[in-house]
Amino acid sequence: MVCPWYKNGMCASPKLARPTSAVVHADRCMGGPEQYKSCSFFVEQESGEEAGAGGTPAITSFAKSGLEKKLKPYPPIHLLDYRPNNECPFMKVYEYSGGYLAYCTVLERLLTRSEVETCEQHWKTCPVRRVGVMVGRRTSETTA
Ligand code: SF4
Ligand code: SF4
Repeated sequence: MVCPWYKNGMCASPKLARPTSAVVHADRCMGGPEQYKSCSFFVEQESGEEAGAGGTPAITSFAKSGLEKKLKPYPPIHLLDYRPNNECPFMKVYEYSGGYLAYCTVLERLLTRSEVETCEQHWKTCPVRRVGVMVGRRTSETTA
């Protein structure tokens, strides 16, 4: 069984500022609950918290995310009427007003509908993602 915070080769634990592969160790992250629960980056998922790989994760409401204070969603450009495919470890999806919002943790802003379509299809080659991987690695090097 894989750690719920393991996602596309990266650790998306909420203890990290950004997802990073720098703290991933296959034996621990994919070794089953005994291994991954002993990891210092592991936290139990709260009900309704977004998980990484494995199972069908529930989604946090935007109101509970704490982002509502600094970000004002503009429904005509941000509100999605479908749950986006967030294979990119830097995309967080929230429920909002009967639909969904997508937030990029590297850009630290909500994504527009057209951006979300690009992220869904081309996240592996996204230049922003590359920056996130580099910054995440640096962040984990200073915090781990
Ligand atoms: S085991 Fe630790 S490092 Fe690996 S994905 Fe889980 S929380 Fe992250
Ligand atoms: S902009 Fe790039 S890094 Fe951000 S969510 Fe989209 S694909 Fe991921």
